[in-house]
Amino acid sequence: MADARHTITAADGRAALRETGGPLLGWWDSDKVNVRSAGEVVDPAAFGTCSTRRESFAQHALHRAIAALGHPWMGYVGDWHSHPAPCEASAQDLKSIRSASRTYPQPLLPIVHRCDSVLDIQAARRGRSHRVLEVTA
Ligand SMILES: [Zn+2]
Repeated sequence: MADARHTITAADGRAALRETGGPLLGWWDSDKVNVRSAGEVVDPAAFGTCSTRRESFAQHALHRAIAALGHPWMGYVGDWHSHPAPCEASAQDLKSIRSASRTYPQPLLPIVHRCDSVLDIQAARRGRSHRVLEVTA
């Protein structure tokens, strides 16, 4: 996920101390996920904060990105957002991704980019926390 990691790091650098984030694109292969690309939702109001994940955010941008990447397996695999502090996914982050995962057949990833550049990667599947075996590019 070199591309995705690069996008996240660069976007977070620009965002400084506010939260930023966007969709993650790739595909699942049983318990392994291939994250090929990370989008950034430029309008912060469209994304909200980690306490208010918006279902409808950037559906548009997402479909455009999937079409542009043109990979037949490419789809929405989760979201990423930055934390302006060195803390991982909050209880609220996990709760909102678990609830969002009920409407998807595949697990969803929340990736949190901490201010110390650590990526905290979790997953949820059908409303429960899900162990990811591997995250690759
Ligand atoms: Zn958060």
